[in-house]
Amino acid sequence: MNISGKTKIYGLIGNPIENSISPQIHNKLAEIFFLDIAYVPFKINENDQAKIFSALRQLNIAGVNVTSPYKNLDLKYFVAADENVSITRSVNTIKNVDGNFFAFNTDVYGIEKTFECHAIEIYNKNVLIFGSGGAAKSVLYAAAKKNPKTIYIANRTFEKAVQLKKILGPRFNVEIKTIGLDEIYSLKNIYLAVQATTVGFQNNSSIVKEASFFKNVEVALDLIYNPWETKFLTDARKFDAKIINGYEMVIYQAIKSFEIWHDVRINKEIEDELFFYMKRFV
Ligand code: NAP
Repeated sequence: MNISGKTKIYGLIGNPIENSISPQIHNKLAEIFFLDIAYVPFKINENDQAKIFSALRQLNIAGVNVTSPYKNLDLKYFVAADENVSITRSVNTIKNVDGNFFAFNTDVYGIEKTFECHAIEIYNKNVLIFGSGGAAKSVLYAAAKKNPKTIYIANRTFEKAVQLKKILGPRFNVEIKTIGLDEIYSLKNIYLAVQATTVGFQNNSSIVKEASFFKNVEVALDLIYNPWETKFLTDARKFDAKIINGYEMVIYQAIKSFEIWHDVRINKEIEDELFFYMKRFV
């Protein structure tokens, strides 16, 4: 990387961000495409959105990814938003064009690719989603599009799960039920359980307190990839569930962001090169 006054700056905003692998993904892709860009993490301590957008404009940052806990950005800061953002209200990619901001959600694509990579077929099956933050919204949307039988949403703050159902529920002909975290143990026949909370990130905790819950789960997906196998996944594995982490999701959401920012297409050959390269960071 040869940084000069002409180098365009991209990055990631969130907190924590120290262990994100997005910089490695984007800087590798930049190298492959010979782009004069640098992608850097920006740790933001305060959810002051006016200040965030003012900083992006002042510093002429060409684009950022957005991670926890900032995906619920106010759409008033954007001149346009893609369909995924309009539906989920969750933004993970911002493009800055001459001080005008455009909002995108590439997490939905990351989840859909994860389903594809692992042959996850949820049509007419039961899905349980833990969480109601930015990532859970994208999971709910990606899942609802596949017409499952029932989607259960379990979240610590019950009211947020109710809100999520209110926003997305009417768009789909799918039964959506909000439940408390203590009610998950009475569920039966869960084909897919998706862990979309921050619990278990860089520590050994799990949103599921009694591991025997997994005896009723066929596939467990945790959006976290650090640690590689969270307690949620280890417990699921003990009860013979198929386990999947957030690795494909983080790579594919990044690929889509990269395509949006730089107007390029990433073909299968480049995807394979990237997956091979990224293994050393996880
Ligand atoms: P977020 O918007 O900040 O939402 C956090 C969620 O976690 C909320 O549902 C929150 O519940 C719940 N939560 C936090 N602390 C909790 C606790 N102690 N006990 C129970 N629930 C708790 O975060 P996000 O952007 O949705 O991200 C969620 C996770 O997904 C993160 O770990 C992130 O790294 C991961 N993720 C991965 C990818 C990927 O590409 N692999 C992409 C996106 C996100 P309340 O509503 O009660 O606060």
